[in-house]
Amino acid sequence: MARRRMVYEGKAKILYEGPEPGTLIQFFKDDTTAGNGEKHELIEGKGVLNNRLSEHFMTGLASIGVPTHFIKRLNMREQLVRAVEMIPLEVVVRNVAAGSMSKRLGIEEGTQLPRPIIEFYLKNDDLNDPIVSEEHIIAFGWATQQDLDDMVSLGLRVNDFMSGMMMGVGIKLIDFKIEIGRAFEGDFQRLIVADEISPDSCRLWDVETGQKLDKDVFRRDLGNLSEAYTEVAKRLGVMPRQNGSNDGPKLVH
Ligand code: ADP
Ligand code: UDP
Repeated sequence: MARRRMVYEGKAKILYEGPEPGTLIQFFKDDTTAGNGEKHELIEGKGVLNNRLSEHFMTGLASIGVPTHFIKRLNMREQLVRAVEMIPLEVVVRNVAAGSMSKRLGIEEGTQLPRPIIEFYLKNDDLNDPIVSEEHIIAFGWATQQDLDDMVSLGLRVNDFMSGMMMGVGIKLIDFKIEIGRAFEGDFQRLIVADEISPDSCRLWDVETGQKLDKDVFRRDLGNLSEAYTEVAKRLGVMPRQNGSNDGPKLVH
């Protein structure tokens, strides 16, 4: 059997050539990093959880008409996605002040924002993903004004959907990051949600206790990351396998 071709290896995922032109296989690794790779650990089963959770969020988004790259999950760690031309920006949507926004602007973590706030960061590890303005984005050609309008609209739709879904299981969506790509359809192109949506890329706080159920558990050494992600998966009714490697579904109560 021919060995499949690796297209890219990043910090948390590997991309392989897919079975059809225009598709990719996204493999979710257990590698967990923070601070642009400065802190790095293997957390057993994290890739399995993120594969499942990203599938859950992306299929939910598709069901309300938000276009995403997700095609189907292939196995515990892999999903088939549509290959897109990535826009080199991270789109962050915030409902509550936290993380870099709190630091940058001196707003206490946990402060409810008057409305969702969208920020753009340039995807560039050498520069530590700096925050950029719409002026920068257009002047330097990273995206057009139309792309920006579409990215804002996608960000807000994802925020509404994800906030509601999480609130339904007693979790507050504090903020999240998405990455967006261009999908070509004949002479047309449209922007679709790509990469992943998972507790690696969201802040999720328990509504009752304020407990953090996201990657801050790892970034800030607050406890067991895979337990936190498993809690999110359980509440959403997503069934992770027990230890990330055995087969057969296991009911989670
Ligand atoms: P990083 O590159 O930041 O280390 P990952 O390990 O998550 O992050 O790598 C996944 C890479 O795949 C990212 O660079 C992301 O932009 C890219 N990507 C995600 N979805 C798609 C897609 N559908 N088509 C092409 N590239 C994608
Ligand atoms: N985020 C991400 N990848 C990044 C940077 C941020 O997924 O490279 C997510 C992060 O998990 C949080 C949101 O984007 O949900 C806002 O992150 P912030 O700017 O506060 O940065 P951080 O505090 O993580 O440095």
